[in-house]
Amino acid sequence: MAMQRFLIILGAPGSGKGTQCKVLAQNNPTWKHVSTGDLFRKEISSGSEQGVELKKLLDAGQLVPDDTTMGVFESQVDQLISSEKVDFLMLDGCIRTKAQAKFLKELCERRSSEFKKPTIVELNVPEEVLVKRLTGRLINPRNGRIYHIIDNPPKVAGICDEDGGPLVQRGDDKEDVIRKRFQIYRNERDPILEVLDEQNKLIVIDGNQDTSTVTQLLTEAIKKLA
Ligand code: ADP
Ligand code: AMP
Repeated sequence: MAMQRFLIILGAPGSGKGTQCKVLAQNNPTWKHVSTGDLFRKEISSGSEQGVELKKLLDAGQLVPDDTTMGVFESQVDQLISSEKVDFLMLDGCIRTKAQAKFLKELCERRSSEFKKPTIVELNVPEEVLVKRLTGRLINPRNGRIYHIIDNPPKVAGICDEDGGPLVQRGDDKEDVIRKRFQIYRNERDPILEVLDEQNKLIVIDGNQDTSTVTQLLTEAIKKLA
């Protein structure tokens, strides 16, 4: 059976996790992007009852409960690995608490013939840069495309280059909510590393550089693991 490796992409909100994972997945067909945030936003867009509950949590900058998140996460992973060849599963925002880190560790132990030990990559960006990025972020909730009003604008203001539909500001990209999300990240980062980093070397990348430079650094780091 083919073995795949989880790459846990850590980094505060706005550090470029989604932007980078989307480019890396496009450039490397066996590297898959898994974003629990994107999955939750899709559920919200569907107008389901669960979506209504999720929207309250996301807009307030609160975490979704661990059991809900890990259920959504594992079924997405299973769906991806059952349909195509996968070398890396790039986990963007999927592991956000100590309990989720333990869940992933146990999943790898339970299914050790499928998953190699996870590797952790962290994108480092100063918080004041992140506030500028997040307050200017626009997204297409239908396909997950990410823009920035100044640094990465669409060709036509407010319209996605890809599907021609409207771009929106995320409900949680407001400065007070952004500060709360930073606080959660600061509190949870070390406990996650404690659980997962024991035998693994954390790869830290300076995320405060051009998008293409960060992509190049990530690509080199990941290819070394292959
Ligand atoms: P995350 O997924 O970590 O929350 P995103 O990938 O959504 O972060 O990026 C947040 C915002 O920052 C977006 O508006 C994106 O266009 C912008 N951005 C991402 N990477 C860079 C970069 N290297 N330089 C400048 N802006 C960036
Ligand atoms: P993101 O798109 O990664 O910035 O996530 C947006 C929001 O979705 C977070 O602020 C949380 O409310 C929720 N979320 C995404 N992933 C997780 C996770 N692993 N655990 C708990 N909540 C999550």
